[in-house]
Amino acid sequence: MHIVVLPGDGIGPEITAATSGVLRTASERFQLDLRLEEHAVGHASLEQFGATVRPGLLDIVRGADGLILGPTATFDFKDEARGEINPSRYFRKNLDLYANIRPARTYGGGRFGAFDLVVVRENTEGFYADRNMEEGHGELRVTPDVVVSLRRITRTCCERIAHAACRLAMKRQKHLTIVHKANVLKMGDGMFLDICREVARGYPALEVDDVLVDAMMAHAVRNPARFDVIVATNMFGDILSDLTAELSGSLGLGGSLNVGDGHAMAQAAHGSAPDIAGRDVANPASLILSTALLLAWHGERSGEIRYETAARAIEQAVARAIAEGQATPDIGGRLGTIAMGAAVAGMLRSE
Ligand code: ATP
Repeated sequence: MHIVVLPGDGIGPEITAATSGVLRTASERFQLDLRLEEHAVGHASLEQFGATVRPGLLDIVRGADGLILGPTATFDFKDEARGEINPSRYFRKNLDLYANIRPARTYGGGRFGAFDLVVVRENTEGFYADRNMEEGHGELRVTPDVVVSLRRITRTCCERIAHAACRLAMKRQKHLTIVHKANVLKMGDGMFLDICREVARGYPALEVDDVLVDAMMAHAVRNPARFDVIVATNMFGDILSDLTAELSGSLGLGGSLNVGDGHAMAQAAHGSAPDIAGRDVANPASLILSTALLLAWHGERSGEIRYETAARAIEQAVARAIAEGQATPDIGGRLGTIAMGAAVAGMLRSE
């Protein structure tokens, strides 16, 4: 399996190095024959090539079996004419990675009780003004003091994200929750809700309910165990999945996979965390777990079972490292980023 690795900014290079170590061990242990090809992205690429994503990188990624994107300094990248492209948006859009799969689970207890859920977030439209237009930008300054931000919702995108969520729920506890704000965004979220219900009728084994996004914040904190698969539009899903990651113990546990029909990109759910960058304290579990999702995706697609076996083993090794306190300070451990990666790799080796 050929994987392109883009370390990114802030804590990106640290968590990517820890993740690559785990992958190399997994490759030896499960004969995955992984080839990791690293390229610069973000600030490193801007300095070297004059663009945060250099020309030609997309073709390299298209030719590979998977992509790992470390967090990038999205907030710094404002002017595309100066090469400041948002790498996350760029790959999601150009590879049409329409489903963002964000699992969150507890590892022994948890302040809000044990739970195991997945947020399935639409990834290509919604309130993300920098990607919801064919040309131009979805935010307009009408006068110096008036800004209009456009939110795009389409039938096609609602249908495909609903199918992705239903298929996932069928493999899990068969419970789908649709999160929306159809009482206010009557047309956009109304259509999203209707389509999700309509698509779910094609999966009669599923139990389906829906919750307003604001009420969802209370339900997620009060009783996260009641949820299995949650489907949401882009921004609601983004916000909700940061909450569920934090409820599981730390934002640093939030793994995610961006999936389309032909490509997939592993990416931590969090950002580049400049406040802790370069200090060897960032939790690498987010990217390690994201990469496990990528291996599982490849295994399912190619029919090569050893990739799914490796993915499960990585998840178990992360769970064991956390249970034994071999973890970073955000979840109560004392290890640095690289040491936690090495602990996970060690557990993989000994399983
Ligand atoms: P960006 O602008 O790139 O989104 P940010 O700092 O605004 O960066 P996040 O990177 O998502 O947002 O971080 C939010 C908070 O969560 C920060 O205080 C950070 O320290 C913490 N955090 C994020 N990722 C991790 C991690 N892997 N391990 C530990 N703490 C983390």
